[in-house]
Amino acid sequence: MEKRTANVIDATHSNAKDVSDRGGKWVAVLIALIGIILFTLALTFSEQTEESLINNKAQLHIASSDKDDINTVMQLEELEWEPINGSSFAFSSKAHWFSVDIPLSTNEDSRLIEVSYSNLDFLDLWFVDKSQGQALILSQFKTGDNYPFSQRLIRHDQLVFPVPNSASVVSLYLRVETQGRINVPIKLWQEEEYIQFIASHRVFTGIFYGFMTAMALISLFLFVTSRSISTLLYTGIVLCLSFALASSQGLGYRFLWPESVLFQEYAVLFFAASAVLLSSAFAAEILEIKSTFKKLYRFFIIFGIIVTVYIGLIFILPFSVMVPTLALIAAIGLFLLFGSTIYIGSKGNSVASYLSAAWCSLLLGGLLGLADSLVWISPSLDPSYLMMVGAVIAALFMALGLAERFNKQRLAAKRVHLKTVENKQKAKQAKDQLLRLQIEAKEKLEQAVRERNYELAIAIRELNEANQELERKTSIDALTGVASRRLYDKKVLAEARRSRREKTPLAIAMIDIDHFKVVNDTHGHQCGDAALKHFAAILQECIKRPTDTICRYGGEEFVVILPNTDLEGARILMENLRSSTEKSQFDCEGKTIQFTISVGVSTRVIVNESEYELLHAFSDKLLYKAKEAGRNQVMSAEFSH
Ligand code: GH3
Ligand code: MG
Ligand code: MG
Repeated sequence: MEKRTANVIDATHSNAKDVSDRGGKWVAVLIALIGIILFTLALTFSEQTEESLINNKAQLHIASSDKDDINTVMQLEELEWEPINGSSFAFSSKAHWFSVDIPLSTNEDSRLIEVSYSNLDFLDLWFVDKSQGQALILSQFKTGDNYPFSQRLIRHDQLVFPVPNSASVVSLYLRVETQGRINVPIKLWQEEEYIQFIASHRVFTGIFYGFMTAMALISLFLFVTSRSISTLLYTGIVLCLSFALASSQGLGYRFLWPESVLFQEYAVLFFAASAVLLSSAFAAEILEIKSTFKKLYRFFIIFGIIVTVYIGLIFILPFSVMVPTLALIAAIGLFLLFGSTIYIGSKGNSVASYLSAAWCSLLLGGLLGLADSLVWISPSLDPSYLMMVGAVIAALFMALGLAERFNKQRLAAKRVHLKTVENKQKAKQAKDQLLRLQIEAKEKLEQAVRERNYELAIAIRELNEANQELERKTSIDALTGVASRRLYDKKVLAEARRSRREKTPLAIAMIDIDHFKVVNDTHGHQCGDAALKHFAAILQECIKRPTDTICRYGGEEFVVILPNTDLEGARILMENLRSSTEKSQFDCEGKTIQFTISVGVSTRVIVNESEYELLHAFSDKLLYKAKEAGRNQVMSAEFSH
């Protein structure tokens, strides 16, 4: 029975585990597929925008402090400009000047210049007409993160500027000064094309932020209902990733903190670092590293402290220090997170494997966003799409990890529940068994007691019978068959009490065979015994009342108790006895034997219980007197004292 329960439990476990594992793996494959499709889409889409890039036609001049105004720059010799390839340049606090001639338009449509990297601190821009011999500034713009958003001419998260209509070639001058990476992708758009591009871009970003918001809200609700800290951390990660992207895409500045120049400066770093911190906390939480891998947990704590300190320093230390430091921290974080999840995953923990996939996705996409601020990677395409896809896939994998972990907890709880039920059953069985044993033991004991009692009862009965037999034997004189001296002692006390109670006279007669010694001596002991028997028969014949008691008092001496008998009655009875004895004779061994008796008798209504002894003694005295008076006579007297 117990074994069967255990088997059922095991089967339940393994089935549930198999199903969940298989389900999780299929979902993981699906997410990976979605990831591949989205990455491909993002790559295709962002590559399309590269068509409008005009950087390869632009020239660069790194300004010295005395040649850093538009008028001076416009006068620069051709030699002082250098051609550029791509859009990224080394970190530098110096102002970078760019000049590019915008080719004549083939149609009447308005055109736009876009600098598709919105995180530049200062971006000054001039459209100049140089066809008339001298440079004529057609329009100029001051923009960048270090100006409040409200100063922008076109209120757009991207930096876009209208190209002035001109019959001749318009030159574009750009001055860029920034603390971060100098990335200046200059794009020339037909207005219509730009509107089409930005519409598709909006759909893409809209889906992304909608998805991330939904994930954040779902996990937040899960946290509110389940109070599981991992769901809150998940919400934090999703939000931080979203905000980091929103900052890098200029959306945060446009919609969330348009007046905060300082925050815009550091927002990407802040949210990226927070995402790293929360990711490590999330991994530690759902992989139960604290309880399972104590040594590893120390590294997580140290790393957490480092990142926290870093976040604290973001708003204090210069940007040029913080960006490479974040890269270092991210590298350490990735090493730690990847290392631990791959290690734990290799032990068969599917949650860890899903987290590895999430980090992988973040590395592929999200880290390209960080690389965007660095010189050492220079993607020629807009990295924000890859970042978004990376973030989405990472969020999905983390959600899968979270779901898997909930499932594991649920199974563990179920196992515990089943174990508890099993234990309860076992406990009940043990209790029942104990109870059964107790009942059995009690029954056995009762049976034993019953048997013992029965044996005891038998023994007692036998003893009683033996006692009665003994009593009977001791209360009857063996030779004569009359009552013994022992019975006399009892009987006389009982009759004395009755006399006192009923106030009736009690008579005690003491009888002694005269010269019995002579009988013995003459005829032998055998005949003496026969004489005693013979006399007892005479006694029984003379004394007929059932209440009267004849006892052999000792030797040839007899005593008769006569209840409710007055002195005269007793005397007459004794006299009859004496006379019967005298007349009687019997044969022994061929000889005829004859003897006489002497009797002392007295009566008294007993007042005091102990008086019977005195009465007895008095009768004995009378017997003595009868002997003295010549034997063969009855001496009677009322007893008084
Ligand atoms: P007295 O008239 O003064 O009574 O003389 P006695 O001989 O009867 O008295 P005594 O007390 O001197 O003797 C009693 C004798 O009775 C002594 C003993 O041998 C005899 N006797 C006592 N008990 C028994 C008995 O159970 N069987 C026999 N055969 N003789 C007995
Ligand atoms: Mg005697
Ligand atoms: Mg005698």
